[in-house]
Amino acid sequence: MPASPSAATGADPTDRLRNFVRRLARPLDFASRDAYAHLTTVKNLGSFVSAQVVKALAEAVYSPQVEGELLALRQLFADFHAKLAPAEQKRRLEQARAILARLANVEVTGADVTHCTEKRNGHPEESPLSPGPSTSTRIELCALPIRFAKGVGPKRTMALERLGVNTVEDALWFLPWRYEDRSVVTPIRRLRPGQRVTVCGTVIAASLTRIPHRRLTVLNVTLADSTGRLHAVFFNQAYLEEVLVPGVRAMLLGRVQIGRKSWAGLQLDVEQYELLEKEGDVPLHVGRIVPIYHETKGWTSRHMRVLIKSLLDQYAAAMPDILPEPVRRRVNLPRMAEAIQEVHFPSPGTDPVALERGTTPARRRLAFEELFVLQLALGSRQRSVKEEIKGIRFDTGTPLLGRLRAALPFSLTPAQERVIADIKRDMASPRPMNRLIQGDVGCGKTVVALHALVMACGSGYQAALMAPTEILAEQHYLTLRGLLQELGLKPVLLKSGGRTKARIATLQAIASGEAQIVIGTHALIQKEVRFANLGLAVIDEQHKFGVLQRKTLLDKGYHPDVLVLTATPIPRTLAMTVYGDLDVSVIDTLPPGRKPVCTWLFTESQRRRAYRIVRDEIEAGRQAYIVYPLVEESEKIDLQAAIQGMERLQAGEFRDWRIGLLHGRLSTDEKERAMAAFKAGELHILVATTVIEVGVDVPNATVMVIEHAERFGLAQLHQLRGRVGRGGQQSYCLLITSGRSSAPSSEARRRLEALVQSNDGFVIAEEDLNIRGPGEFFGVRQWGTPEFRAASLIRDADLLQRARQEAFALLEQDPHLAKPEHHALRAAMLRRWQTKLELGSIS
Ligand code: ADP
Ligand code: MG
Repeated sequence: MPASPSAATGADPTDRLRNFVRRLARPLDFASRDAYAHLTTVKNLGSFVSAQVVKALAEAVYSPQVEGELLALRQLFADFHAKLAPAEQKRRLEQARAILARLANVEVTGADVTHCTEKRNGHPEESPLSPGPSTSTRIELCALPIRFAKGVGPKRTMALERLGVNTVEDALWFLPWRYEDRSVVTPIRRLRPGQRVTVCGTVIAASLTRIPHRRLTVLNVTLADSTGRLHAVFFNQAYLEEVLVPGVRAMLLGRVQIGRKSWAGLQLDVEQYELLEKEGDVPLHVGRIVPIYHETKGWTSRHMRVLIKSLLDQYAAAMPDILPEPVRRRVNLPRMAEAIQEVHFPSPGTDPVALERGTTPARRRLAFEELFVLQLALGSRQRSVKEEIKGIRFDTGTPLLGRLRAALPFSLTPAQERVIADIKRDMASPRPMNRLIQGDVGCGKTVVALHALVMACGSGYQAALMAPTEILAEQHYLTLRGLLQELGLKPVLLKSGGRTKARIATLQAIASGEAQIVIGTHALIQKEVRFANLGLAVIDEQHKFGVLQRKTLLDKGYHPDVLVLTATPIPRTLAMTVYGDLDVSVIDTLPPGRKPVCTWLFTESQRRRAYRIVRDEIEAGRQAYIVYPLVEESEKIDLQAAIQGMERLQAGEFRDWRIGLLHGRLSTDEKERAMAAFKAGELHILVATTVIEVGVDVPNATVMVIEHAERFGLAQLHQLRGRVGRGGQQSYCLLITSGRSSAPSSEARRRLEALVQSNDGFVIAEEDLNIRGPGEFFGVRQWGTPEFRAASLIRDADLLQRARQEAFALLEQDPHLAKPEHHALRAAMLRRWQTKLELGSIS
């Protein structure tokens, strides 16, 4: 007989389970006896079974198998009541008895069971909280539906589910969005009108008044402490009449008012109350630093506090510490059990500033765990991609490269050379390349990608270059066609659209392998396009797509190297999160001779001054863009604005010059003609909607006027501005804020000022992230910016970095998290990220 756990609680675990089975079997047997004749006389079977199961689970932690049976048992009776069809009732009873029969035969060994009571009193050095073999025998809080929690009925379950709380784990991770320090209790004699205070005392008298015509009930309570008496008023809480009876001790929070009616002195309009039943009761809602939670109909902050308190009492001590102990120590974070307690109910004296900013050790502990798990997932995915063998070693010594160099009209910058070397290394290796090239607008990413394309073709493979818009695809085609043909390569442009003769011919050329470089939009990896032997996929301006579904490529049977180009200057913290599984190369310098674009802000009344600059530039032989916003909801109206704007300018201010119009509604031919004319210098001014946001490359254009600049996002403005300043000339970006509506909002103003202040895309992106917050940063959710419950990408940037280091180091030691002490961590990682990150191959 093992002396250990049973000694502490006085019962052998096997016996304990047997007793439980016996207790349950009695009413079930009775209900089933005599062909279920007694079924109708058995009352409250559901709550009885439920209470017994909860008791059993609370007393000890059994093996997952046993606990699974217990929970299944409870589930059977969760909605067991008279309304259930008799046949269904019988079926469930049969199942329940089968479960009990199985449980009656289980031998619970000492290793199978951990006593909760012992856990709480356990010695720290052998704490069951440290990762170890006991991990697998803990209750899985993530598998424990919230409806099993005490006091959570079906209605409340629904309210909680609206808040995204489905399990006990969800509830414990439902963190306060702010705290209120109600810990200072003010003696009644010291109250002053206007103060918001907490008082504590004994109820002397209480009376209820109804004011029917105003649908109001007022409960008047007299509260006394050792310094005096106070009149406290509760509105529309008639039920409290039975609670706040004379003699009850209570804490009240509210605002002090000058007394109304004939009452002398002051009155407290009560917002929150709490009963103190026993001496030494720790209050939840007043008299402490109180957590404030987001609410929903039928579920208040107060409900949440009660629920969380009871869950903490029940489970906090058993919360799994999935962070490896050495990591936790190195990063200097508290244990989970302590952190989860503190984050909900901060100890007295917790630094209020840290609470407000979300930087308490408890909060950081939770945030770190989230970031660490994410980085593990990203790291694992990166490894799994690396383990995938493509079997292609590209010939990075192809003579085509030399010929490309010779054909380029400029020499490459050191940053470009460095990145090309990274790509060469990737392409020479048999593992697939999965690399992101990050570089500000105009830094010359295209020519870098061109090297990769040429290497792929030089090795006998096809390569695809995908752009976010047709315009940009066409641009690439037009700029690259000459060079590629000079090298003896055949590029094709695959446009979207029907089954025209030309398109069918192009598709055939791709399928036969005759077309070596295929340029198009993202649609290139759609169904109908078949490649003969795709070896490389380059994706330009990734921010328009959402994270590349590598799987889409693999599913089509391709194992190409992938190169992603992005001009969206993603802040480091986000890049690490969103692109955490890609290798990243950065082009951090612009080609020589570029001058920073001068950016100025004009109001409507200063418009003439902006036009003056445009005029000067055109007279000096340069060209100009005038850009109108295009907001999807009102595409037509904006289009009108652009067209009318152009007509007005053509008739007035700029009548001496040729003006072209470019917008998304034009046919491809019309767009191409407008672009070509502008590029050739036949047009002085191009009036455009945001279709020119990316990729358009006309170095002679030196001035851009942006109308309604306040309507654009910061990243978008920066992209637009990147269309000028591409040659050696000084260029200008003139932002006009429209006068019709009132002054731009302060947020818009902050955006525009950030743009005026800096030309550095990374600075701008950080600022954008700060202004907008990460959720909105990319406009669309398709980015899959992860949602965190405790972490914030802005506030916890330092933690993210740390989490990444630690996670990647851990994967070095234990690439598949196969060691027993990492099992819980691995399970958490898969649970959270498996589907989102397509971790299929590592599960
Ligand atoms: P982005 O990185 O924004 O895609 P592009 O590849 O379109 O930038 O390059 C912007 C402009 O800079 C193009 O006109 C390109 O020909 C030119 N360019 C690229 N690299 C160099 C270089 N090393 N020296 C001079 N001009 C360059
Ligand atoms: Mg580009």
